[in-house]
Amino acid sequence: MVATRAVSTRVVIALLFGISTLVACVATAAPRADLYFFNGRILAGVDDAGGKQSARWIEALLVHDGRIAAAGKRADVEAEIARLQLKPRRVDLAGRFAMPGLCDAHGHFASLGFSLDRLQLRGATSPEQVAQIVAEAAKTRAKGEWIQGRGWDQNLWAVKKFPTAELLDRAAPDNPVWLRRVDGHAAWANSKALALAGVTRGTPDPDGGRIERDADGRPTGVLVDNATRLVERAVPTPSREQLRAALLRAGENCAQFGLTAVHEPGIDSVTVEAFRELANSGELPTRVFAMLSAATAMRPGMLPAKKITAGEGLFRVFAVKAYADGALGSRGAALLADYSDDPGNRGLLVTPPDSLEIYARACLAHGYPLCTHAIGDRGNRVALDAYERAAGGAAGLQGKRFRIEHAQVLSPQDLPRFARDGIIASMQPTHCTSDMPWAPDRLGAERVKGAYAWRQLLNSGARLALGSDFPVESPDPRLGIYAAITTQKPDGTPPAGFRPGEKLTILEALRGFTSDAAYAAWAEHEVGRLEKGMRADVTVFDRDLTSVAPAEILKARCEMTVVDGRVEYEAAGR
Ligand SMILES: [Zn+2]
Repeated sequence: MVATRAVSTRVVIALLFGISTLVACVATAAPRADLYFFNGRILAGVDDAGGKQSARWIEALLVHDGRIAAAGKRADVEAEIARLQLKPRRVDLAGRFAMPGLCDAHGHFASLGFSLDRLQLRGATSPEQVAQIVAEAAKTRAKGEWIQGRGWDQNLWAVKKFPTAELLDRAAPDNPVWLRRVDGHAAWANSKALALAGVTRGTPDPDGGRIERDADGRPTGVLVDNATRLVERAVPTPSREQLRAALLRAGENCAQFGLTAVHEPGIDSVTVEAFRELANSGELPTRVFAMLSAATAMRPGMLPAKKITAGEGLFRVFAVKAYADGALGSRGAALLADYSDDPGNRGLLVTPPDSLEIYARACLAHGYPLCTHAIGDRGNRVALDAYERAAGGAAGLQGKRFRIEHAQVLSPQDLPRFARDGIIASMQPTHCTSDMPWAPDRLGAERVKGAYAWRQLLNSGARLALGSDFPVESPDPRLGIYAAITTQKPDGTPPAGFRPGEKLTILEALRGFTSDAAYAAWAEHEVGRLEKGMRADVTVFDRDLTSVAPAEILKARCEMTVVDGRVEYEAAGR
């Protein structure tokens, strides 16, 4: 399948609109299209009546000037086209499926853009193969430019030993090279990178880190855990142009998967500016709801009463992101009792509870939800406690739409606090299926019952916002929807599902990726449904996700992605 690139789609549309529009567009925004969708399955939204979900279907949809201009019966929509004297592009769905644009409620957008530019080394079967990839990349890079990559794993090689700098020195003699291991907990540098970082024989191993050395104590090229920071510090921060390019790359990637919107969890003010520019010029291919990182947000003036917004709301800052604890895979998630597979270890809190409370107070005072990363049951409890202390109890949190990001392992006592306090559980269904091989070892049979507890949270009356945590996982929302309704890996294992009691219905999953994700960004009146007056974010698939078997969802092809009335992606052959 060859995709029409977003840029070329825009140029084609601009040409259709005539040269004057094109000229205007160069200076301001890419053109918005008038689109008339008909003759297919069009899901306007998922309604919720007393916890029972029902799909609302319409016959036709008109997009005009970035908004839904009409939605409903075909005759009525055609009457509106005539009344407005429009000549929209007729999108004959021919039985295909259109739905409110899919939103990833937790995706690291800028990171995705950068990761797409890094060498992908996952699955490399020898260090020589990695060096070959680096040598190819070096041909296209300027002298001195850093070459970065990730994904190598010496466990896949014939000699299961850490590699050395030499091989990379030969592959890219003029460029510093920095390649992270598959788990991100070690990295492989060439001599140029080590020299720029000032890592020499005399450099001591830092706390919590190790520099691999030869018999004479000279660094051999691989740095482990905290020692990786020695080189990370030397990697130049991306230029404005590189940041901009990364955001565009991420948007193009998201559009191919049918994502129209993303909640970007935690950015600094430089990234805010880059988003702002791209949104104002109409170039941002994705609607981005951003959380400021707590460190940025706590600076004076960073939480203005009038929220930062650009491009008619295509980009906006809506919340603040903090971290309670680490991750489960590396046993950094804070647990109330020892890790089942590591007695004596309960993980760690990365932010003192008092600081979380200070953030929560500032957020309450300025009208921003606080969104706290919490994985372990202790991490979650500490975050919930901080929220309640800051608000003076559950009543003070009502309607504030505070969130917990991941909410991955919950103590049975804490689970009802989400519904009671109006706290949104922002969860990533693919984490459940990716963690499946080792999560029960870490947590033990009893504690795992409170993990990935989507169904229990929904039944308790809490609201779910669903996402992927890309680039940790793939941005492809089909994978998240599938994982949410099956708790199985894409290969269908285990047959009954890993957490069979937590399966969502397809409509519940779609809500989590549309209207409830919109609610979690204070945008439920603008996106998440196809209703007259709302922003025109639409995703088209070749089959009706609400009626096919789960395995078919993985085969569904994204045909078209419309963001704010702009066709950002269209599959070839439509
Ligand atoms: Zn994340």
